[in-house]
Amino acid sequence: MAALLEVSRLQANYGPTRVLHGIDFALEDGSITALLGANGAGKTTTLRALCGMVQTAGEIRFGGTRIDGRATEDIVRLGIAHVPDGRGTFANFSVEENLRLGAYVRKDKRAVERDFECMYSYFPRLKERSHQQAGTLSGGEQQMLAISRALMLRPRLLLLDEPSFGLAPIIVREIFEIMRAINQHEKVSILLVEQNAAMALDLADHAYLIETGRVVLSGSAGKIKQNDAVRRSYLGY
Ligand code: ATP
Repeated sequence: MAALLEVSRLQANYGPTRVLHGIDFALEDGSITALLGANGAGKTTTLRALCGMVQTAGEIRFGGTRIDGRATEDIVRLGIAHVPDGRGTFANFSVEENLRLGAYVRKDKRAVERDFECMYSYFPRLKERSHQQAGTLSGGEQQMLAISRALMLRPRLLLLDEPSFGLAPIIVREIFEIMRAINQHEKVSILLVEQNAAMALDLADHAYLIETGRVVLSGSAGKIKQNDAVRRSYLGY
C-alpha cells in the first residue's frame, strides 16, 4: 500500500532545545499507526511538528506533497486533523456548536449536515447531549466530542494525542473500537500517540517506538508486541 505520510530526518526544537533528533517514519494509506514511548520521548512534539506548530527541519510529505514549513491552516485544509492532548474542545459551546466549528473550512454544506448524523451514529451519546455545554460532559464524552469534531473536517489523516488519558479502561476500549470502525468505514488513516502501549498495539496495524527523540524500534503491531524489551518496559509482563 502507498504511504500517505512520509517523514524523514525530522528534527524539532523548542528554542535552543532539540527534542526530535532526525526521526523517520511512514504511515500507509488506510492504516492505524501508533507512536509509543515514555513521558517526554517526543510523541506530542511529533504531532505538533506534522501540524506546523513547532520549528522543524527535515521532510514531511503528505500524499506526496511537502508540508513541512507550511502554516497550520494550510495543513488542515490538505486534510490533516489534530486531536491534541487535553482534547481542546470549546467548553462553553454546545456539542453541536463544537461539531460545527470542526467543519468550518468546508464548503459542502449539505455533506456537513449528513456528517452530523454520521458522527452521532458512531457516538450516540453525543446526540443525546447535542445541546449540552461541552465543559459539562464526562471525560469520555469530551474525548468522543474531540474526535468527532476533528472528523467533521473529513480528514484523510487523523492525529490522536493520548486519547486514553484520564479515562477508565472500559471507556478507552469503547472509544478504540469505534475508532477501528471509523478507520474501516470512513477511509481515514490514524496516527495514534499513546502511553497505553497495550491498548494502542491492539488497535494499530504498525507501531514506532520513540525514545528521547529517536525511533528505536518499528514494525507491525503484532511483532512489536512480541519484542522482549517492549514487553518488559511498556507492557509490564
Ligand atoms: P508525554 O507523554 O509526557 O506528553 P511526549 O512523548 O509526548 O511525552 P513531548 O511532550 O513531545 O513528549 O516532549 C518532548 C520533550 O520536549 C520533553 O522533554 C518536554 O519537556 C519538551 N517540551 C515539550 N513542550 C515544550 C515547550 N513548549 N517548550 C520547551 N520544551 C518543551
